[in-house]
Amino acid sequence: MSLASPSQSAGPASPVINEIGTESSWDSLEYLVDKDSEIPVLTPKSSSSQQPYTFLHWVRMSSLRCHDNAAFTAAMKNPGTRFRAVFIYDPWFESGQKFGLNRWRFLIESLQDLDQSLQAYGTRLYVAKGQPLAVLEKLCSNWNVSSITYQVDKDVNSHLLEESVDALGKELNISVSKFEGHTLYDTKMLLVSHPSLLTFKDFKQILHSIGAPARPTEAPQIPEDTMATYGDDLSLPQEYRIPLLEEVGFSSQESLRTNNLWVGGESVALQRIPEYVSKRMTQSSVFNAETLLDKSSLSPYIRFGCLSVRYFFWTIKDLVADDEKMEEFWKKFASGILSREFFFTVASQVPNFDCYSNNKVCLQLPWDKDVELFEVWRNGKTGFPWIDAAMRQLWKEGWIHHVLRESVATFLTRGDMWISWEYGKKVFWELLLDFETSVSSGCWMKSSGSAFLSGPVEYYCPVTYGIKIDPTGEYIRTYVPELRNFPADYIYCPWMAPVSEQEKAGCRIGTDYPNPIIDHATTGAICSERLRSVMALIHNVNKSEKSSLVPPQLVLPITSQ
Ligand SMILES: Cc1cc2nc3c(=O)[nH]c(=O)nc-3n(C[C@H](O)[C@H](O)[C@H](O)COP(=O)(O)OP(=O)(O)OC[C@H]3O[C@@H](n4cnc5c(N)ncnc54)[C@H](O)[C@@H]3O)c2cc1C
Repeated sequence: MSLASPSQSAGPASPVINEIGTESSWDSLEYLVDKDSEIPVLTPKSSSSQQPYTFLHWVRMSSLRCHDNAAFTAAMKNPGTRFRAVFIYDPWFESGQKFGLNRWRFLIESLQDLDQSLQAYGTRLYVAKGQPLAVLEKLCSNWNVSSITYQVDKDVNSHLLEESVDALGKELNISVSKFEGHTLYDTKMLLVSHPSLLTFKDFKQILHSIGAPARPTEAPQIPEDTMATYGDDLSLPQEYRIPLLEEVGFSSQESLRTNNLWVGGESVALQRIPEYVSKRMTQSSVFNAETLLDKSSLSPYIRFGCLSVRYFFWTIKDLVADDEKMEEFWKKFASGILSREFFFTVASQVPNFDCYSNNKVCLQLPWDKDVELFEVWRNGKTGFPWIDAAMRQLWKEGWIHHVLRESVATFLTRGDMWISWEYGKKVFWELLLDFETSVSSGCWMKSSGSAFLSGPVEYYCPVTYGIKIDPTGEYIRTYVPELRNFPADYIYCPWMAPVSEQEKAGCRIGTDYPNPIIDHATTGAICSERLRSVMALIHNVNKSEKSSLVPPQLVLPITSQ
């Protein structure tokens, strides 16, 4: 399948099938398009030192690409001035809350891919380790930097570092230019007219009135004489090499473990779009085993910025155009991509959005602390095959389908274990390739019943929910090999199988695979009751206050007795 580039001038914009905006509202935003010519030319100041001036492009963990990257394009628009791109990684990622193997591998592959692309421009990707502000300060002096460009990173709290970099620029008399690019819209701009936005419904209304996001831009053209244009060469000092997995704390044995399901990098991301489209267009709208085992997702590429979210959006939008056959696909796609946008937007205006405490949207449910339960959940050893299969896939591959995320999140929190969503989110931080703090915090709060509740709260039974999707247990057999030969009747509840069946399947429950760590009938009922009490209390408070807002800091004296 060949796809037109969404950044080419597309003629009249195509009509849209969607629940969010009308055709005209989507199209009315065309004036916002970041046309190449609109990216400012940054004029270097005159140099008094021997060294040439350098335009430094600060590459962020969410901007590992050349296409639709306004910060990169702006820095490249200055022929005759040396261009250097630098990615800085904080040692905290090795020693603090450590990125897991799959995330590191994906990051390293993406850096290697970007380095390859930059070589075509006659330059390299410089990778430096250290506290980003300190590294930038040093480079500004060592490289005679006159300008810095970067893409705003939308992660919770990243604005603090960005403010320090802006201040550094002022102090050193260096121009610092920042650009949007990790979300479809400038989330701050969306909030100007709705400073207290908290619901998805309101969000969709705002978008309805604004219209479609800007179209993406193409990567800057490669000049014929790169040396004369960008003043750099392809040599790269040893200290700026991309690290190996062994150098960021993994053993050589670990680094040999391959994961070719999601290979990092912009080139791979762009190549994978046709496969994504053809899979999703034909996928049944009813979830089944094939949906769970599908690996066409591009979310890891969006997270690391290997794929521009606007490029992704417009590729799909142009493709579906007014084709009614694509309506289902488009609705699902738009709902997902706008949920992402929604969480980024809300997170940008709610302090401590990623925390349980001091977060005005997070219900203060009185979670239990149970390290043993948490560890078995984390390691996929709960004795509930549906939950364990999902956690094991997450460890192995770094990605799981949305319904599995919902299932494991509900199980850990309001469904069975009554453990705070913050613990679950930390595990996702370590393991999930597409982990984004704003998005994940929003999803975790929603799944745990802590925020964004609308309508009846869905319940994900760890036994029956999976049976509805995948009755024969194909998904479980893939990720819990101990149970591979279990009959379908017992694969979701193997502890109920007669010993003779267990022996026939070559797996004794309690020996080869754990017994269930909790009695779901009991814990599920207790958790439901706890949540019901909270809901009743909220309902009463809201009624008495004649307001529909969930009261913040609501602490309930509920025990598990
Ligand atoms: C507990 C929990 C934690 C989650 N944490 C993350 C996270 O850290 N990062 C993340 O990107 N998604 C997260 N999600 C949302 C969702 O599960 C994934 O985005 C989705 O599974 C990606 O699948 P896809 O690429 O096939 O989506 P597609 O259907 O292809 O959607 C296109 C894009 O839209 C975005 N998207 C899709 N669904 C959602 C959604 N429900 N909420 C927000 N964005 C969405 C993704 O960026 C995705 O690439 C989480 C969900 C839950 C329940």
